[in-house]
Amino acid sequence: MKINLKTPLSSLPSIGEKRKRCFEKLGIRKVEDMIFFFPRKYIDLRNFKKISLLSPGEVASVKGKVIVREENKMQKIPYLKVAISDGSGVLFIIFFNQLYLKNVFVPEKEFFINGKVEIFRGELQMVNPLYEEAEKKRRWILPVYPLTSGLTQKFIRNVMEYILENLDEYPPEILPFNRRQKLGLPNIRFSLRNIHFPLSDINLEKARNYLVFREFFILQMNLLYRKMEQQYNGNFEKQSVLKNNPIEKFESLLPFKLTEGQKKVMEDIVEDLKKGKVIQRLIQGEVGSGKTVIAIFSLWLFAISGYQGCLLVPTEILAEQHFLNWQEFFLKQNIGISLLLGQLSKKEKEKIAEKIRNGEIKVVIGTHALLSESINFKNLKIVIVDEQHKFGVRQRELLKKKGDRPHYIIMSATPIPRSIALTFYGGFDFSTIGDMPVGGRKVITYLFSKDEKEKIYQFIGLQLKSKKQGFVITPSIESRETDSAINEFKILKERFKDQPISILHGKMDLKEKEEIMEKFKNKKIYLLVATTIIETGIDIPEASYIVIMQAERFGLSQLHQLRGRIGRSGEIGYCLLVSFTDDEEINKRLENFVEKESGLEIAEFDLEYRGPGDLLGTRQHGIPPLKIGNIVSDIKFLNLARKEAERILEEDPKLEKPENRVLKKIIFEGKEWKRK
Ligand code: ADP
Ligand code: MG
Repeated sequence: MKINLKTPLSSLPSIGEKRKRCFEKLGIRKVEDMIFFFPRKYIDLRNFKKISLLSPGEVASVKGKVIVREENKMQKIPYLKVAISDGSGVLFIIFFNQLYLKNVFVPEKEFFINGKVEIFRGELQMVNPLYEEAEKKRRWILPVYPLTSGLTQKFIRNVMEYILENLDEYPPEILPFNRRQKLGLPNIRFSLRNIHFPLSDINLEKARNYLVFREFFILQMNLLYRKMEQQYNGNFEKQSVLKNNPIEKFESLLPFKLTEGQKKVMEDIVEDLKKGKVIQRLIQGEVGSGKTVIAIFSLWLFAISGYQGCLLVPTEILAEQHFLNWQEFFLKQNIGISLLLGQLSKKEKEKIAEKIRNGEIKVVIGTHALLSESINFKNLKIVIVDEQHKFGVRQRELLKKKGDRPHYIIMSATPIPRSIALTFYGGFDFSTIGDMPVGGRKVITYLFSKDEKEKIYQFIGLQLKSKKQGFVITPSIESRETDSAINEFKILKERFKDQPISILHGKMDLKEKEEIMEKFKNKKIYLLVATTIIETGIDIPEASYIVIMQAERFGLSQLHQLRGRIGRSGEIGYCLLVSFTDDEEINKRLENFVEKESGLEIAEFDLEYRGPGDLLGTRQHGIPPLKIGNIVSDIKFLNLARKEAERILEEDPKLEKPENRVLKKIIFEGKEWKRK
């Protein structure tokens, strides 16, 4: 039978309705899907042992010849028993309900057998082991696939082998021979055959390299192509505001001087606009580096040119803070600004919505409420997302759709490792604020165990006495079994009776929260017991220490954010982590955190340890899971793929050259990478 990439799996021999459905569960419908369904690991049958050296309980491979075989029954179940010898001893292999195998295990034939060794009535045996004919070289290193019920490894292997043997035409090459040679990559036929049935370790490595590169390359081509495509429709380059030193003008309106880092990022933004680009920029900067000012600058720039802009933030308290800090700034210049929160009354919301619709309001700061269908803009030209990892791609896209291809800025306090930047943020330009407004800061971090809590309370006592402000953070608000904000608050209240201690958590209503924040700012409260509500962006300049209970329950990047809440006043800050676990590995991770100061290093460490989930936020991020590449361990190929994609698009931005035509097709029609 001739088969091609589009052949439905169900038209292959031995695949009926039931198995077809099993494959569908794995996302496999066509031959093309099947050959890109990669093994999870391999069993190397060449690592076989002498039968005489086998011990019961172990999983092992042996290589031996069939001596005899017999059919028998055990409690009415028919089975085949085969004696295998390798000269050192005899192993019996048992197959229940598979009598037809006696035509496979004919005497004198040599096999690799892999399975769990047992002793039964004094005989060494394996029940239903893996087996391969020793002369089939291609099957010495056996693929093991991610399984679904209803399909066995053996069955998938057989289908795969059948396809690879009969496939009429392999998928097209992504790169011409000379480029592949330069990069040390084999061709696709070799790679697909060897990823499934490697002839040797070296072949397997080469095949994997190729396929990893290919996966990253297609992703990078896609991201970069899209980026270029939308790049030059900004239509802002003629605005007069750009000609008159907008950054200086902006600075003159502020009560403080901009830092060099802030100026540089603003220049990046102005440069984008001057070039006529649609801004698509990720702004990074440690907690406290002053990212908000960048957002305000951008909103201001568009507002004075007659356009609307919005700033999306993850919590009401943060929205409120931004609004209170900047309302006056905008109003002084006759720029309409408003705060949009979910908890506003329907009437209030409608009033604001109307003013947004008719363009009276130029700047909107808001939470998720901004995404509501009832919010429509007159001419939304810039969308800014603060603490961007708190939002999913879908939410951010929803907001962008409210304007006509608006400029787009996202901000992050968690430094983003290069591997993540290249994949999940591959379509963005990057800016980093490298400095801090108040002469940097110094925080010393310590790690304590649960048994040392008394020391912590003593420390807190001293701080309270000297009127220093600080936080105690717990992972949960209320909980019976573990330390919670409410418990901890009780303990502290009791111990330090007449000290101004308060509690702050997400379940309190906004008015209450505001009041407490206000009191904290005015030094009417010294100690705040809180959940991670304070992690995101809230600006509290004076706090000098933070105690984090059950530190093991936080990601390192999150701990870093929390640590960023303190030590901004120029004084040394103290961050005390309290680990409640005895798990050595987890505590090692925390020790590692204690030693590291750079957010980027911490993010990289977190990425290696916990995978990209933490850094990307829990929400969906719009990029399909990688099938074979690993952004941490395969960073080398990610970089190569990025470079190659950049090189090609630089030479041929629209992919119009004949040699790039196939590539264009793969990128936009290929099954492997499609935006949902
Ligand atoms: P981030 O969002 O990067 O964590 P913020 O924007 O909240 O930081 O800024 C932290 C604090 O620093 C705010 O109180 C802000 O007003 C202040 N700030 C920002 N830029 C400057 C500056 N150039 N000089 C002095 N203070 C600044
Ligand atoms: Mg911020």
